Amino acid sequence: MRCPFCYAEETRVIDSRLADEGDAVRRRRECLACQERFTTFEHAELRLPQIIKSDGRREPFSESKLRGGLQRALEKRPVDAGQIDAIIAFVRRSLLASGEREIPSREIGEWIMEQLRRLDKVAYVRFASVYRSFQDLNAFREEVERLEGESSSAGGDKA
Ligand SMILES: [Zn+2]
Repeated sequence: MRCPFCYAEETRVIDSRLADEGDAVRRRRECLACQERFTTFEHAELRLPQIIKSDGRREPFSESKLRGGLQRALEKRPVDAGQIDAIIAFVRRSLLASGEREIPSREIGEWIMEQLRRLDKVAYVRFASVYRSFQDLNAFREEVERLEGESSSAGGDKA
């Protein structure tokens, strides 16, 4: 980090402490060339996009809400907590990697359904039924039948 006074590149940290309730590190530096002192703040670049709800409202991404939804979908299913953590980590990474400032909740729902579909078909249908709020029972039944068709034809070929 260059000295803002003389632009020399060699500076040393003389003090380092947490700031912003632990979300930042405040460093006191001294320039080795001109001995001026200055302060830097280091923040993690972790700005998750805002979530656009179906009614158009925006809200921050809530990990606990997502966890709750996954736990309901996976209730009494042979899926351990580590796999729930992995889905949450996947969603968080995808949000960060998107580079978007806002992202529709529908898109996040699709990511989650894709993960659940691979993990546990029952959980997938449960999640999808809440998430997509199937218009009627027929749509729901069709989805279940489609999935059953998929798993029975999954004997070897990559259908
Ligand atoms: Zn300097």
